[in-house]
Amino acid sequence: MSSPLLVVGTVALDSVETPYGKASDVLGGSATYFAAGASFFAPVRLVGVVGDDFPMEKLSFLRRRGVDLAGIEVVPGGKTFRWAGRYHLDLNHRDTLGTWLNVLETFQPKLPDEWRDTPYVFLANIDPVLQRQVLDQVKTPKLTVADTMNFWIGSVRPELVKTLARVDALIVNDEEARQLAGVPNLVRAAGIIRQMGPRTVIVKKGEHGALLFHEGKVFSAPAYPLEDVFDPTGAGDTFAGGFYGYLAKQGKADEATLRNAVLYGSALASFCVERFGPDRLVDLTLKEIEERVQAFRDLVRVS
Ligand code: AMP
Repeated sequence: MSSPLLVVGTVALDSVETPYGKASDVLGGSATYFAAGASFFAPVRLVGVVGDDFPMEKLSFLRRRGVDLAGIEVVPGGKTFRWAGRYHLDLNHRDTLGTWLNVLETFQPKLPDEWRDTPYVFLANIDPVLQRQVLDQVKTPKLTVADTMNFWIGSVRPELVKTLARVDALIVNDEEARQLAGVPNLVRAAGIIRQMGPRTVIVKKGEHGALLFHEGKVFSAPAYPLEDVFDPTGAGDTFAGGFYGYLAKQGKADEATLRNAVLYGSALASFCVERFGPDRLVDLTLKEIEERVQAFRDLVRVS
């Protein structure tokens, strides 16, 4: 049995436009997508906040997959965090049309006592002050991994830097890595970010795959060449869920395990984008995931 994995992040209602269609108030949030990916490999404990306008039944697929939702606070009379985005024809690029923090503005995460000794902690994309408040409440985590986004890098950078000093690994996309490090070259950017604290840095490059920087070595994984990509929302968080869920299941984070974890993260993300919102992750099976991981290995085999 894998060790438990705690995640703090957003549980959201998203309004998304892609070249293939649009949808309003669909289930979203960094913690939601992370939990959807990680729950295939480890028991997930989710810490977050919603308003009483949030339809909790949208999370029942996570509960069925063993995600413990006891850490979700429901604020009476509060409005759930909302995000709206529009993707370009090149789905690697999107514009954020709006971010409404709502209940996040006053959220003070409080871990159930029995969750304080969780060995694996993921600080999903959320205010870095809240990320640290969660870190303060866990006793001696075995591994701490964080994610962040342009929104936080731009608005509360000094707080983010304090959080980064306390984590073992950071997962960001290429644009965020450049913005955080202040240099255009991704290899240099990863080096600068590693000096901020995380020993391991993973840079996601959308349809161009992902880079893993660890102990002076670089590993590069492709993205799966899909014919139909409908909605990339949440792909990054789902990658993180597959990546960290796999590490938690293996109970280690050495070079080889990290490399395999990048393949599992990439496989999960490739399913996420096949349908709108988290729909494809609802009925996904472990067998399909394993088949796609094998397809990834075949993709880069040369003989
Ligand atoms: P991704 O496509 O992996 O970057 O994640 C998209 C998800 O992140 C959406 O479901 C949003 O609800 C959520 N999100 C968007 N902006 C923020 C933010 N500033 N902080 C936390 N979560 C966010």
